[in-house]
Order: sequence, then C-alpha cells, then structure tokens
Amino acid sequence: MTETQGKMLARCLVCGEVFDASLEKCPVCGVGLDRCEPVLLERLDQTEDTAEKFLILGGGAAAFNAAKAIRERNATASIVMLTAEDAPPYARPMLTKTLMSGASAEDMAVESSAWYDERDIYVVTGCRVTSLDTAEKMVQCEGGYGFVYDKLIYALGAGCFMPDMPGNDLPHVVTIRTVEDAQRVREIAKGTQDAVVIGGGVLGLEAAWALRESGMNVTVLERGNQIMKRQIDEGAAALLTAAMADKGVTLLQNAQTAQITPDSVILKDGREVKAGLVIVSAGISPNAAIAKDAGLTVGKQVEVDEFMRTSEPDVYACGDCAAYGISYGLWSEASEMGRVAGVNAAGGQEEYIPQTRPLIFHGMGTALFAQGDCGKLGLNYSVEEISRPGQYEKYWRFGGVLVGAVLVGDISKGFTLFR
Ligand SMILES: Cc1cc2nc3c(=O)[nH]c(=O)nc-3n(C[C@H](O)[C@H](O)[C@H](O)COP(=O)(O)OP(=O)(O)OC[C@H]3O[C@@H](n4cnc5c(N)ncnc54)[C@H](O)[C@@H]3O)c2cc1C
Repeated sequence: MTETQGKMLARCLVCGEVFDASLEKCPVCGVGLDRCEPVLLERLDQTEDTAEKFLILGGGAAAFNAAKAIRERNATASIVMLTAEDAPPYARPMLTKTLMSGASAEDMAVESSAWYDERDIYVVTGCRVTSLDTAEKMVQCEGGYGFVYDKLIYALGAGCFMPDMPGNDLPHVVTIRTVEDAQRVREIAKGTQDAVVIGGGVLGLEAAWALRESGMNVTVLERGNQIMKRQIDEGAAALLTAAMADKGVTLLQNAQTAQITPDSVILKDGREVKAGLVIVSAGISPNAAIAKDAGLTVGKQVEVDEFMRTSEPDVYACGDCAAYGISYGLWSEASEMGRVAGVNAAGGQEEYIPQTRPLIFHGMGTALFAQGDCGKLGLNYSVEEISRPGQYEKYWRFGGVLVGAVLVGDISKGFTLFR
C-alpha cells in the first residue's frame, strides 16, 4: 500500500474505491485488502485558486469525487453540494450487502463530517433541486431557495425503475436506493415472514440473500429464463441457481409479474406467491429530467463528452445520470466520471477513460466473479471450462487474448486475470 500524509491508501480492484488501508476492507463493497492494490498518487503540479462558485447537484459518489477534485485544484473557490438526502455521501453499494444489519448513513459515510469542514465543502442536506436556469446560472430548490453558480456539476444519479403494474404503490412494495429504503425494508420485515424479490440481477440476489439470512421465506422472480443473463453464462447461472435452492431461496424463472396484492404477487401465467414484503429490483432510471427541462441535450441520460462537458457551457454532468458511451451504473464509473468532471470544471484537461470492473456476488453459500465479455458478443471465441464439485471456471479468449471470465466458488484467481 502507498503512504501519503501518514495514511496508507489502497484501491479496491472490485469497485475502484480509494480508501485508507488501515480500514482493512473496502468501505464501499466490503472486499478485503487482498483484493486491493496500492495507490500511486499523482502530484498536482497545477492548482489555481479563484473566487469561483462551484455548485454540485447531488450527494453521491459522482458529486463527492467532483468536490474532492475541485478542492485539490482550487483552495479558495466556494464549493456547495446540494443533496435531497439527509446525509452526506455514503457507500450506496452497502445498502443491499448490509440490508438487515441496520447500518446507518453515518456507518457507511464516504468521509466524516470533519472531512468536509476541513476542506470548506458545504453540503446542504435535505435540499431537493427543482429546476436549473443556465442563462441566469441559477438553481431553484424546494422551499424557494436559490443558488447561483459559475460552474455547475450535475450529479443527480438515478432512482430505481418501477415497472408499471397494479399494486406497485402498495405500502409493502419497496425499491432500494437510499438508507431510508433499507430502513423501510427492515420495518416491513418485522411484520411478515414472506418476501418476494422481483428481479434476478445481482442487486436482487443480494437483497434476497440478506432476507434469507435473516430467516425469511424468500422467492426471487426472474422474468427471463436465466438469472444475471446479461453478465454470466448458463453454466455459472445453473450453479448459482442450485446454490439458491440449497439455501432455501425459491427461484421462479419466466415469471412475469401481473399484479401485486396486499399479500401476494400474481404472475401473468396465473401462479401466485405469498408476499408481505416485495422488493422490486428492476434496474435504474436516471435523474435527467431537470437537465432536459433546462435545455441540455439528454437522451435517457445527460449526454457528455470525454471531458464530462454537457451541451451547455460551464455545466458538467457525471455518474449514473450521465452517458458517455455504454454506462453500467457502477460506483467506480460514477466516481471516476465525478473526478474527471471536477478536474475539468476546475480548469484541468482530463479525459474520462471507461474502465471495466468485475461483477462480484457473495451469498447463497458461494461467490461469483464475472468480468468482460462472457460469450455475449457472439465472437469466434476459444472457450476453456474447468468444472469440479463446488467450483466452476470459464474463460473466453478471442485472438488468443482473454476477453471474459466467470468463476463460481473460489473466485480469488479472478482478481489477477485482467491486470
Ligand atoms: C443497493 C445498491 C447496491 C449497489 N451495489 C453496487 C456494487 O456492488 N458495485 C457497484 O459498482 N455499484 C453498485 N451500485 C451502483 C452504485 O451505487 C451507483 O452506480 C453509484 O452510487 C452512482 O453514483 P452517483 O453519484 O452517480 O448517483 P447516486 O448515488 O444516485 O447519487 C445521486 C444523488 O443525487 C441526489 N438527488 C437526486 N435528485 C435530486 C434532486 N432533485 N435534488 C437534490 N438531490 C438529488 C440523491 O439524493 C443522491 O444523493 C449499487 C447501487 C445500489 C442502489
């Protein structure tokens, strides 16, 4: 690990977080130091102190890294961060990993409140932005508050996608994006033994495992014919499916939800599953409406160039709400986009280079690692498969180069494959 200002720093190979190595595990995704690498710090040769007003919309990974990058380059500018949440940035990925443990935003905080005080970064919590006026360089918030800016970082992230279906507004139906959502899950779980998770992606499975470990009867509904179809192959999915069954988690595939009732979920084919708690994990919905209303170029997300510049001068966007090429909605991407937006807003000239990070799942008594193209692009691969009880490894090579890998069981080898 690298030492800086008396601190050893490490970068997590799973989620990309850079953290104080004395923590012994990544505060964002929870993996140990054996899955981290030392950080090589760049010395900042160019700093420019100004009296500019930097306004950052959002309080997630992208906003945090933008604020940090700006302050590293500019000691005197005003930096204000507006977040609708009641807490400064925290490790959102831990929400499903610690779902039933009751971790607070403070427990998961990216940095302590002292960190912001020492850097004169003003975080306004409980502040919901309602509109942006790029001509006046002004932002309006609920309650009639207004903030002006010289440079704006739009980092409003995403919400959870909620499929349109009868019953999706019932009080026991939850999506998980914030600490309040996780708290709501714990409250509802006190009154029921039966939970349904709609969505067999990694976040759905993390939630399902947390509920199962707390002793609930859990059913996962996957609308397709395989869990995590986008990321893993059939063999790995079959092993994970068997692990779920072994741990008493029911998986229903080809299970399309028709309706949620106060005590069940009814599928389109007529099957009905008892449920006092329903967690919907069906993807994300980028928070781009305010940018669109302000006249920025927006598709599904706010469009940015490699410098994280939007179509409006002095407005940068980053994280889950912004698109530069394909976006996977990952912590590492949001953090790096935020850092690059901050650097460039503060007068730098850095390009965002998309990075691939592995998908990791720990749960159901096993572990899963997937990285790269696991046969999904339909290339003329050479494929190597190693399979023995409790262990599965599959490697896809194209032109002799490793392009994808999936491991189930002991996944330690995965972390060195693409380095
Ligand atoms: C449960 C869960 C588990 C995850 N696990 C992983 C994982 O294991 N690995 C991984 O890489 N990624 C994971 N992710 C994804 C990762 O957390 C996100 O990609 C990342 O947090 C995105 O950061 P962001 O700053 O772009 O957006 P967000 O974290 O969504 O932050 C956006 C901020 O903007 C604020 N905001 C939104 N609208 C307004 C408004 N109108 N006014 C004021 N503030 C507003 C929000 O309150 C929030 O503070 C997980 C996500 C979730 C929800």
